[in-house]
Amino acid sequence: MELDRDWATAPSSSAVLLAMGTRWTCPGPPLLVLVCCAVAQSDQDSDQLYNETVAKAFLQFYDRTAQVVWNQFMEAAWNYVTNITKKNQEEMLYKDVEKSQHTLYFGTRARLFKVANFQDSDVKRMLSKLLNVDKAALPKEELREYNEILAYMETTYSMAQVCLNEGPCLPLEPDLEEVMATSRDQKELLWAWQGWRDAVGRQLRMTFERYVQLSNKAAKLNGYQDMGALWRSTYESDSLQEDLEQLFQELQPLYLNLHAYVRRALYRFYGPELIDLRGPIPAHILGNMWAQSWVNILDLALPFPEKPPEDITKIMKGQHWKPEKMFQEAEKFFTSMGLLSTPPEFWENSMMERPTDGREVECHASAWDFYNGKDFRIKKCTEVTIKDLLSIFHQMGHIQYFLQYKNLSVIFRSGANPAFEEAVGSVVTLSASSHKHLLNRGLLSQQHQDKEEEVNFLMSVALEKIAFIPFAYLMDLFRWKVFDGTIEKDVYNQEWWNLRLKYQGLCPPIPRTEEDFDPGAKFHISASLPYIRSPVEGSVMGKRVCCPERYFLSLVLQFQFHEALCKASGHMGPLHHCDIYNSKEAGKLLEDVLKLGSSKPWPEVLEKMTGETKVSTKALMTYFKPLLNWLVTENVRQGEILGWPDFSCSFEERETSRAAFLGMELNTDLVKSWQWTLLALSFVMLLAVLLLGRRLYTLEKSSLTQDTSTQDTRSQGTQSQSPRSQDSSAIKPASKTYFLGIAMEPHQVVKRQWMLLGLCLLLTLGSIGLIIRIFTQHNRKPPWMRDEWGSWD
Ligand SMILES: [Zn+2]
Repeated sequence: MELDRDWATAPSSSAVLLAMGTRWTCPGPPLLVLVCCAVAQSDQDSDQLYNETVAKAFLQFYDRTAQVVWNQFMEAAWNYVTNITKKNQEEMLYKDVEKSQHTLYFGTRARLFKVANFQDSDVKRMLSKLLNVDKAALPKEELREYNEILAYMETTYSMAQVCLNEGPCLPLEPDLEEVMATSRDQKELLWAWQGWRDAVGRQLRMTFERYVQLSNKAAKLNGYQDMGALWRSTYESDSLQEDLEQLFQELQPLYLNLHAYVRRALYRFYGPELIDLRGPIPAHILGNMWAQSWVNILDLALPFPEKPPEDITKIMKGQHWKPEKMFQEAEKFFTSMGLLSTPPEFWENSMMERPTDGREVECHASAWDFYNGKDFRIKKCTEVTIKDLLSIFHQMGHIQYFLQYKNLSVIFRSGANPAFEEAVGSVVTLSASSHKHLLNRGLLSQQHQDKEEEVNFLMSVALEKIAFIPFAYLMDLFRWKVFDGTIEKDVYNQEWWNLRLKYQGLCPPIPRTEEDFDPGAKFHISASLPYIRSPVEGSVMGKRVCCPERYFLSLVLQFQFHEALCKASGHMGPLHHCDIYNSKEAGKLLEDVLKLGSSKPWPEVLEKMTGETKVSTKALMTYFKPLLNWLVTENVRQGEILGWPDFSCSFEERETSRAAFLGMELNTDLVKSWQWTLLALSFVMLLAVLLLGRRLYTLEKSSLTQDTSTQDTRSQGTQSQSPRSQDSSAIKPASKTYFLGIAMEPHQVVKRQWMLLGLCLLLTLGSIGLIIRIFTQHNRKPPWMRDEWGSWD
């Protein structure tokens, strides 16, 4: 506690404060100097010392130093992910430790202020945000281990490849993703699906267990029950879990109708061997490595195939689009609304394409704030496709947020809540992908969209966004349950698939075991990124990572934002027609919200934008109403069953050739004939045992009759006769009885025979039981399925 006194004294002398600040912001002395230069020298009352004025100076000092420390860390992290080498990793880990020391230093001291009597709500809010020091709370050695684990998990993911037999090895981006998106050969899809999980998930299993332990330890040191609770704390809401469940339930009709419709479309293409119309869908044929977006199978699921949408990617290629032009296009959207343009550094420093100089890089798209007010970057291995163009709009949404709040204290430089950050980029893509906008930008040639084409269009958006709803939800649910111990480490994979079945109606295409770790094959899990992020520390790397995919809450929020911005822009008509491009009114409204950063509780910010204080599914449902109506009619017409009452994730179709029999792996047909033979044999044995039993019974009965008659004779004879001589004379006729070749007295033989009979009966019943078990085992549903999760209707 000797360090705890220094802030009590340091701010009391502004000279000391100034000196410390100067020392820190100038390159040179490490953090220790900062810590040591404040020497306890006063015994003034601490309440007086930790007053509001001092707090303000403290926060200013924090801000000044954090900008330097964070900037250095971001530089090191950027260098690493854009050039994965051992040296760069070490440098990044070193800077990460420095950043943690800084966080811990200020977090510990922030506790000393008695905020209850403070007037300035900003000061109170900033101090409360500093209290959460996240992983920095860990003891030094464990912090180092934790950072190494995080780097290992992220790197394993980034470097993983799947190799063809005697062929080249394919990375996830773009090759494996391309296979998953375009291949319609289920064997090839299975190869990529399984290969990726073998290459990543399995490697991370053991590490992940340790990661969970250390995460929870860090959370506890911050005063939270577990890491999930710490992540959820970003939302400043006690009812977050209930609210999310409520939103999820409201969206169920849309998802279930889409699921049933897509299952039918896949059934038409792949047939009954692969698809059960009353069961879940195999996860490898939905056009995406994680089955989180189904838009790549739009061709199979187009409501009106005779009116296919124009191929915008083809148009882009025809117009010779380059990655940089795609970024300029996205920038133009924001500036057209009167929002900020990116500084020159953005264009100089961003990584817009996969480098061709042999560097290993992390390709997962992300937007970066370097905390110096001028350096912002995007990292993306861009391909010229409409998907990547829209993804860049999303990333530029993050950059716009950074630009808008860059003048706030570092503490407030994040979204009102993490879902806001994601929703801002996505709300722009809703406009950018509208027919009106694409036509305006010369990316479509057809002037009008009729009703059927509109349904086709809405289907493409739904396959991207509605299909994603349950996935986004279960991503966090899974980790919350892992962190709070509801899901134990020996059933990680089983419970992962239980959730995917329950919420998404999906099953794995091949049997999974606890050797596998399929959740680890998803970036956000291996990189420790909550779909909801923690505040100041942000993520493992402290960077704003994101993805073309949207988090669950942001998915709902973006439609709420869209509706509000469209209203501001004066849009009339269906919500999916709206394009806020060029609208200064919408731009102003967005700007007002973005520049608040996280300085205000998010319900206040939401109200400013939409007039509502709660997240609502109303706008989303309005947007998709024409599609939902069409889907319901179509599903009723086909007599579809909503949900998945049948557990048909049996894997027989895909592995008919081999099956297990008494520990041996044999041909299935052979196994079946053996099973029948064994069953027949058992019945013959049972019959034999019963016959033997009957014979024994008669034998015993006759011997009993003899015994009785002998005894009757004996009772009539003289009492002086020795029992021995009496016995020997009485049993004489039966004395030739043998049991297993040994001569013995008949009543002993009968006793042994009964025992043998009992044993035979037990054995026979046992083997029949075993046979029945073998039979049913082959047709049983996989062990990870539970009965109560069959259907939603
Ligand atoms: Zn994002």
